[in-house]
Amino acid sequence: MICKKIVAACLLFILVATQCISSPESVSAASFPDVPTSHRAYSEIMYLVNRDIVTGTPNGKFNPEDYVTRAEAATMIGRALNLQGGYRQTEYVDVPKSFYASGYIQDMSDAKILAGYGNGNFGVSDKLTREQMALIITRAWSFWETSGITFTDVNVNSESYIAINKLATVGVVSGYPGGKFGPKDFIKRADFALMVARTLNPEYRKNPADLQPIAQATVIADSLNVRNAPDASATRISAFAYGTKVNVYSKLENGWAYVGTSSLKGFVHGAYLKYPSTPTVPTDPSNPLKGKIIVVDPGHGGTDPGALGYGMKEKDITLITSKYLRDYLTEAGAKVVMTRDTDIFHSLEKRVLIANNASGEAFISIHANAFNGTANGTETYYNEDNSKSVDNKKLATYIQNRLLIPELDMKDRGVKEANFYVIRYQNKMTSTLIELGFIDNKSDASKLASDTWRKKAAYQIHLGIKDYFQYLQNK
Ligand SMILES: [Zn+2]
Repeated sequence: MICKKIVAACLLFILVATQCISSPESVSAASFPDVPTSHRAYSEIMYLVNRDIVTGTPNGKFNPEDYVTRAEAATMIGRALNLQGGYRQTEYVDVPKSFYASGYIQDMSDAKILAGYGNGNFGVSDKLTREQMALIITRAWSFWETSGITFTDVNVNSESYIAINKLATVGVVSGYPGGKFGPKDFIKRADFALMVARTLNPEYRKNPADLQPIAQATVIADSLNVRNAPDASATRISAFAYGTKVNVYSKLENGWAYVGTSSLKGFVHGAYLKYPSTPTVPTDPSNPLKGKIIVVDPGHGGTDPGALGYGMKEKDITLITSKYLRDYLTEAGAKVVMTRDTDIFHSLEKRVLIANNASGEAFISIHANAFNGTANGTETYYNEDNSKSVDNKKLATYIQNRLLIPELDMKDRGVKEANFYVIRYQNKMTSTLIELGFIDNKSDASKLASDTWRKKAAYQIHLGIKDYFQYLQNK
């Protein structure tokens, strides 16, 4: 379903515009008698204090060894994300509007970053565990790199396993001596500050020496300001001259990037960086998918269920099918980046950004349709207003053709042109949006409900993508 996309894009614009007028960084850094300069988290705490993300207590102390409550966590993360906050009506019985964290708690809940217990309570004074903190950070910020790092006390089947692995991989968290992480331990204010500061600023990560560039770029502004945080109001450290070649270490949701040369590292606005146009991936004539970076985008998610029909939600169908697609592509040697692999809400702009950050070579958005119950069939969309229009249509056509096999038994609604946000603003890679079928149509819905059908559809989409890369190879 696609009708709400423009609205979502507009809401996102308002959010971004609001962030641009956030209050300037306070100049007078507070100091706390219980956080001397020798404290293990001194720099990180000060970094967050100067950014108004954490504050001291009324008695002038910071209390670094105190535990963090869920309400405090919601407030601090909400500030770090520039969310609305304030005093608001919430969905929780234990969070009245007059409660200091009511706005941020509802923000966290709306964004599916930190939800209540499902019994109507948020648990404002309950302490936050280290694994909950890892989950919060990976829901609030994008981390997709994983590694072989494991902790003896983090079960591979636990909900937090991937989150802790992702954060350990990039040095946002580290375990205790002896290979333990302490997932059920309550998190202290000092450790909370460490994790948030390391998330926001890679300079604070555990092994900054291990910081690996994800790309190279060239500065295309006459003088590009380098700041100590990803925000136009943050302190200016220095500037890069036009033409400077920089390593890019991370790209953030708000358009900023953490970059550096051998002598200077800091945050710059990503609009003034030029990336090499095509990633250099060695091609293998016998396997056109080998090494290709393919972004798979399961439509909707989290608070946005998409279209509904026959007891199904579009967001679930798109995710299940996308995971099968990921598996087939991976098996064929491609490198797959998912815009989401859980039931989480992402803005359309964020999906495009994730794709760009991954330097994807093809972007595949998966959706299911709805009309009034009478329409049925598969259709695949491309955009012709962006620089990739010819290849976009090729990709859409190859996929649509592969989806029309008798086994899938779908009506051919054709390859169509449209201005959907995720394919319109996907200038850096070929992109397509597939509407598998109509979730509110009895015949289509019975297929969408079938795992065998979804698996087969994913397999056929993977063949269509392969056809496209074959065509590129022979072009
Ligand atoms: Zn949709």
